[in-house]
Amino acid sequence: MSAADRLADIRSAIDRATAAAGRPDGAVTLVAVSKTFGAADIAPVIAAGQRVFGENRVQEAQAKWPALKAAHPDIELHLIGPLQTNKVRDAVALFDVIETVDRDRLAEALAREIARQGRTPRLFVQVNTGAEPQKAGVLPEETAAFVTRCRDTYGLDIEGLMAIPPLDEAPAPHFALLARLARELGLPGLSMGMSADFEIGIAHGATHVRVGSAIFGSRG
Ligand SMILES: *Cc1c(COP(=O)(O)O)cnc(C)c1O
Repeated sequence: MSAADRLADIRSAIDRATAAAGRPDGAVTLVAVSKTFGAADIAPVIAAGQRVFGENRVQEAQAKWPALKAAHPDIELHLIGPLQTNKVRDAVALFDVIETVDRDRLAEALAREIARQGRTPRLFVQVNTGAEPQKAGVLPEETAAFVTRCRDTYGLDIEGLMAIPPLDEAPAPHFALLARLARELGLPGLSMGMSADFEIGIAHGATHVRVGSAIFGSRG
């Protein structure tokens, strides 16, 4: 099966899960995660109509996306991996959505760079729903205060929350927690669900699902 065929299958599965959850058509945006894949693998997916893509490393994205974005100005590129403050300038210049805002130093650097460049990527706060020590993200109990500081201290407009549940746990309770936090904070965006569990994410209210291997194949 080609990547375009797999993309069509994922789109149908997203539509079915959206309808099954009683949510309107188009309520869920597919972020096609192209990390580790090159322009030659990405081109057929763009040709099949996909316009929203995710990458987890700034440097890797810089090597392939400027040319693809120049050829297709309607592409929307999401940063879904950790962002170092020394990469903020490049990230603000390239990405349309940054899903991984998770600490004050980063929020401050983003605010400064957004003002300097006059370019405003949409922003999500990453939440470490499983409180895993090795994982990025703010802790659930610190999320409300952090989102408030993003708005009031740094002047950042936060669109939603993003999470990556622990690998060895059922994702549903993590998605439910993220959805509750977003609801309490009045945030419309919810980025949750990957190849293995995007339907569960949609059932819990995901507005964005990040699907990589189910479209592009395994990353070897
Ligand atoms: C790689 C990645 C994905 C996609 O994972 P798949 O299991 O390949 O769908 C989603 N979100 C993040 C943050 C990732 O790093």
